[in-house]
Amino acid sequence: QIYLDYNATAPMRPDARHAVIEAMAVAGNPSSVHTSGRAARRVLEDARRDVARLCGTVPANVVFTGGATESNNLALKGFGPDVKVITSAAEHPSVLEAVEGSRVPVGRAGLIDLGALEDILAAGGEGRQLLSIILVNNETGVIQPLAEINDLAKKHGALIHVDAVQAAGKLPLSFDDMQIDLMSISAHKFGGPKGVGALIVNPRNHLMAEIKGGGQEKGRRAGTENVAGAAGFGAACRAVTEDAGELDRISVLRDRLETRLTERLPDLVIAGAEAPRAGHVTCIASPGIGAEKQVMAMDLAGIAVSAGSACSSGKVRQSHVLSAMGYPPEVAGSAIRVSLGWATEVSDIDAFFEAYCAFIEKQRINN
Ligand code: PLP
Repeated sequence: QIYLDYNATAPMRPDARHAVIEAMAVAGNPSSVHTSGRAARRVLEDARRDVARLCGTVPANVVFTGGATESNNLALKGFGPDVKVITSAAEHPSVLEAVEGSRVPVGRAGLIDLGALEDILAAGGEGRQLLSIILVNNETGVIQPLAEINDLAKKHGALIHVDAVQAAGKLPLSFDDMQIDLMSISAHKFGGPKGVGALIVNPRNHLMAEIKGGGQEKGRRAGTENVAGAAGFGAACRAVTEDAGELDRISVLRDRLETRLTERLPDLVIAGAEAPRAGHVTCIASPGIGAEKQVMAMDLAGIAVSAGSACSSGKVRQSHVLSAMGYPPEVAGSAIRVSLGWATEVSDIDAFFEAYCAFIEKQRINN
């Protein structure tokens, strides 16, 4: 099958697969002091160094987790229940469902309404506030203006967490330069294994562990670390760091697809096209034709894409992100997401273009 669903998960990079297999042969527990334990510790700390390098920070700030859903939950709950959480309306469910909080609206382009954000921050009163913002949206690729958002957070003394899951490996990232408090990333979105991620924690913050036990990860996440997963994560980070041309190559493919689609399909909507976007995803809607139907048709044609809002249970609902951007139901319910990555070729994009246009044109004739 032609795979164009990298934002759901990316195929594992060969280097990452190799690193996982090698690390599985290491018998020890990284917390054990004997030789085997120290060998496992070395694998883990090498991986931590690679993750830190990708994120532009020091290894000591990297907390390994079981993926970004866990990282987001730890970020939002780690300061205790008294912190007032503020998010945007276009966040991933792992943020929206984790805690109750104020939701800053986004505009038609998918960008946060900075005026509304400032009002919410200003109304916050005495207590501590934590702002949690998705840097690159998983459905549209829209990039939020982090510097401006961070300035507002700082002005009002709020902590800031960035969900950088769809940014890692897709945009240059520097946790230290961004001067934020917390950042979540996940290995499987850029060619590492599933079920391992990290929360990057600014050392000025003391986080309470969500998972308590043996005090691993400096007391911030208990449980024996997933050594093989971390090794694959580290290898994927290295591959991204070393292949500087990959991102440009992918965005050229995405742009080629969008140009050809808009030339051929007059009523096509590209969500977020007016905003700065990451180059690996396009969210397209053919109004009135259900997203689920489109995804099934593409699957029958041998191509994997997803509905804009594909959720973990496999159900397709109207995209909450497009609804938040103010699109009417016939657009939000017809949005599909085509996402590219390290192994995508021009032939994959062109096959999707042909299959998609043929399907949409047939639907239009039949209706
Ligand atoms: N945040 C964003 C923006 C995502 O796209 C995802 C993945 O679906 C997550 C968080 C959750 O990541 P994970 O699958 O590692 O739990």
